[in-house]
Amino acid sequence: MATIIDGKAFADTLCDKLTGEISQLQQQHQLTPTLAVVLVGEDPASQVYVRNKVRRCEQLGIGSIEHRLAPTTTQTELLDLIDRMNRDGDVNGILVQLPLPPQIDEKSVIDAIDPAKDVDGFHLINSGALAVGENRLVPCTPLGSLMLLKDQLGDLSGKHAVVIGRSNIVGKPMASLLLQENCTVTIVHSRTRDIEAICRQADILVAAVGIPRIVKANWVKPGATVIDVGINRIEEEGKNRLVGDVDFEPVSQVAAAITPVPGGVGPMTIACLMYNTLAAARAQNGLN
Ligand code: NAD
Repeated sequence: MATIIDGKAFADTLCDKLTGEISQLQQQHQLTPTLAVVLVGEDPASQVYVRNKVRRCEQLGIGSIEHRLAPTTTQTELLDLIDRMNRDGDVNGILVQLPLPPQIDEKSVIDAIDPAKDVDGFHLINSGALAVGENRLVPCTPLGSLMLLKDQLGDLSGKHAVVIGRSNIVGKPMASLLLQENCTVTIVHSRTRDIEAICRQADILVAAVGIPRIVKANWVKPGATVIDVGINRIEEEGKNRLVGDVDFEPVSQVAAAITPVPGGVGPMTIACLMYNTLAAARAQNGLN
């Protein structure tokens, strides 16, 4: 039976540490890191994510500013708001909750955010810096997943890591981070042939697909460490359930360690958002 990697406990410990650093920053520099969160529309999942992010800010002593905009908001209106926040010295981090309504081009919005305030790490400057190994603000989900892996395994050097999914927000940055840790990295995706056989070679398997329980026990090498990034809401036995991309029960009979859903990568994503907000505030004030 695999060790269950407790992302919630790890995230709580990280947040405790950040709380101490934030209070020190206030005492020594009269600086309160502040995160502005923008939600456009009424997507229920996005509302939950935003609420959780704001709650975490409050717990840690990070200032939060919420902008809730109508579903009919135009791209120009959103870009104007971003421009104001870019110029506002009291705002250290800007997060625009995705997805955005169809009338708004996500890429234009991401690229309008000042890279120094881009706490999601999605801006071209930040993703380019990560790709060449000069990390600035790193996307929260892969950053949190890497922290869990290093805590579990220590040195990752030489391990074969297989990342399932090639999105710009999870799969690609995850692969870059693992490469920086000297893993041998393979990315597999929707067009990969014989995906099971490739996954079965992995010492570290990261699933970021968005398909409930796609990763079966026969995709996993005995003794592998499995990180399940997926968050999928399904109807099962008349209940609304949250499940990952990994078929948890059977896979946990094969793997050495595995993250659960919920309680694995999810809490780490929010903790790393707090980490990035503090890092951004420090950098903007000439503190390293
Ligand atoms: P995405 O839809 O942008 O990318 C999914 C990737 O999976 C694509 O690159 C695609 O090539 C690949 N894929 C699709 N079908 C496949 C198949 N049959 N076999 C192999 N690969 C396939 O999604 P994303 O934004 O990267 O998110 C992936 C999952 O992670 C989703 O469930 C999302 O909700 C979740 N997520 C969780 C967190 C968190 O905090 N835990 C954060 C971000 C995303």
